[in-house]
Amino acid sequence: MTYETVRETDPDAAAALEGERARQNNTLAMIASENHVSEAVMEAQSSELTNNYAEGYPGERYYGGCEYADDIEQLAIDRAKALWGAEHVNVQPHSGSQANMGVYLAMLDPGDKILSLDLTHGGHLSHGHPANFAGQVYEVEQYEVDIDSGYIDYEGLDDIATEFEPDIIVSGYSAYPREVDFGRIQETADAVGAYHLADIAHITGLVAAGVHESPIGVTDFVTGSTHKTIRSGRGGIIMCDEEHADAIDGAVFPGAQGGPAMHAIAGKAVGFGEALQPEFEDYAEQTVGNAKALADQLRENGLSLVSGGTDNHLVLVDLRPSHPDTTGKVVEEALESAGIVLNANTVPGETRSPFNPSGIRAGTPALTTRGFGEEACREVADLLCEVIDDPENEAVIERVSDRVDELTDEYPLYD
Ligand SMILES: *Cc1c(COP(=O)(O)O)cnc(C)c1O
Repeated sequence: MTYETVRETDPDAAAALEGERARQNNTLAMIASENHVSEAVMEAQSSELTNNYAEGYPGERYYGGCEYADDIEQLAIDRAKALWGAEHVNVQPHSGSQANMGVYLAMLDPGDKILSLDLTHGGHLSHGHPANFAGQVYEVEQYEVDIDSGYIDYEGLDDIATEFEPDIIVSGYSAYPREVDFGRIQETADAVGAYHLADIAHITGLVAAGVHESPIGVTDFVTGSTHKTIRSGRGGIIMCDEEHADAIDGAVFPGAQGGPAMHAIAGKAVGFGEALQPEFEDYAEQTVGNAKALADQLRENGLSLVSGGTDNHLVLVDLRPSHPDTTGKVVEEALESAGIVLNANTVPGETRSPFNPSGIRAGTPALTTRGFGEEACREVADLLCEVIDDPENEAVIERVSDRVDELTDEYPLYD
């Protein structure tokens, strides 16, 4: 794809688009929620379907002209069913947060109770943070990870659930490096008569490939983002049993949204098609293998990891034990100037502010898409540590930056 037409009609916008392409080509994306979709997914997302209004669902639209919208949405639905095995799938949520909104709207009344993981322990804003609609409309109580082990405190969750009597328990996280025991949390939900929503936003691709336990058939609802490890068009997805299909569909449209973003749904269809190919399983396995290699090398270099390591695509570094005088933000900024992009993150038992927290989160989905293997990820761990050890040293930044240039040349991305 080129931006020739935009460059002719709108040089300012073209400069930003071309700048972003160059930025992605020339830096290492280690934001754990990010990935690089294929050119085919990008083409589909920039298709004429962006012009179409398809309020409703395939075969039951409110407007005419939806023949091909129906085709593409049905493809996305059928492929999602093949990938995850759900009875019912809704591919219309504009984002992962709106997928969660759809489930809450379908199953809860204002004032009902949500029990979810604390944000600073790895949860997500849409699970009921006071700054999010979910925290304003519903009553929210939070469970935590065990500070010493870094693992979900399942027994603590039992206790809070018994006390709080939630209407829904939310599992699935944004910054949790370990396998989630959905079956264990389902037992808690059953014991207190709550629904259970598994938000697999980060691990959609790992679940589809069978490298993480699946909540399908275990929990009542599964939501996800479609652009993270699953590497498809931008947006969200909801999966459930047939029993809740009508409630979910009505909550998404007309409950929470208007017309679906059909071009994004086209990107989902194409990306899901790619994920059904046998190579995707290799990709997902390599993503996890790379995260383990990254974790291993960071530990060898003396860094402290929340939970001691990883089972999935991300690691969470607690800088406090090894580098008490530096912060996540300082490290994030120094790394970005060296061409490595990741984010500062709170850690369980956070003692600083969320704006300048004590940790960094780093993921391997995007590096793995570029072709990085375990050895390259170990080298990236070394580069991270060089900067973390001396974030204000210009010579270090320059040396790491030169090596990043070589690596991005060695593992090219888009033409
Ligand atoms: C990323 C994420 C989401 C939200 O996805 P958006 O598409 O950014 O709205 C929801 N839940 C969890 C756990 C996430 O990590």
